[in-house]
Amino acid sequence: MTAVPARRPAAAVAYAGVDLGATKIEVVITGSDFAPVAQARTATPSRGGPAAVVVAIKAVVDEAIEASPHRRIAALGIGVPGQVDEATGAVSKSPNIRGWTASFPLREQLQKDLGVPAAVDNDVRVALLGEHRLGAAQPFRDVLAVWFGTGVGGALLLDGVIRRGRLSACGEIGHACAAPGGRRCSCGRRGCLEAYAGRGSMERRARERVEKGEKSSLFTLMKRSGRTRLTSGVIAKALDEGDRLANELINEAVRAAGPVLASAVNILDVDAVLIGGGLGSRLGQPFARRVHRSMQPHLLHDGRESVPVLAAGLGDLSGALGGAVLAAERASA
Ligand SMILES: [Zn+2]
Repeated sequence: MTAVPARRPAAAVAYAGVDLGATKIEVVITGSDFAPVAQARTATPSRGGPAAVVVAIKAVVDEAIEASPHRRIAALGIGVPGQVDEATGAVSKSPNIRGWTASFPLREQLQKDLGVPAAVDNDVRVALLGEHRLGAAQPFRDVLAVWFGTGVGGALLLDGVIRRGRLSACGEIGHACAAPGGRRCSCGRRGCLEAYAGRGSMERRARERVEKGEKSSLFTLMKRSGRTRLTSGVIAKALDEGDRLANELINEAVRAAGPVLASAVNILDVDAVLIGGGLGSRLGQPFARRVHRSMQPHLLHDGRESVPVLAAGLGDLSGALGGAVLAAERASA
């Protein structure tokens, strides 16, 4: 665990925002102005399923509170990479977190263990809420968010409101079809965008190709940085070094993303597309520009200015800060 010590004086009310990812749990403590006063993070447990994840969340939230000027928090908000039942705060499954294979009452368990009200929602929805209140989506009313992380997630804001949809699955662009009959996706279907542009699928392909004898610095860089997975940081470093395989994987992701994101924009006519997630925020605006270029041939804009495609403004913290906003908004609802 790492903690950044407090930099600001105590405010009256404090919130904890939590971003639960496949590889790490990121926590911020904020006052009612949502400026972070402390941060902490830990690795997501790779065994023990949701029960172990809750233990890790409590430990890292306690550590962040300890590093903040606050003795306690008023509420907690968390974004989870999975389908969330809005009424109960249960997470039905979270395919990118190992061992999370059945429904788990996350809100109930967090409230019991932490003793404060907890609000739970899908991770990209929470991140888009953060970006709309505090970050790059502030000027817009209609925004499509596409998060490139271990998987590819999405969320939709229309008329300033985050949409949930009938099945609470609104915005799941990672499972929009990029190639009918194409590569197998983690969801069991074929040709999903995530099968080409998710970090998890990139890692599987990189392993297969290196095992077959292809040369790449990806796994050397991974070992050198003490990691066991090809994190976004490792991929970014390999790209900087001009690694051919890393470059090919990113090219393939950009090629698959273009038609899918352009189709979504053609249907929704949003004001902006926001690109984030571990990989998306690590690669930043240059990656957003490449995705935009790949969308161009498929966009219906009749010569008018094309939709802006922007990198998330809060970087790696949009999910955690969105969690703090969610906590405050649910607490005052
Ligand atoms: Zn899929």
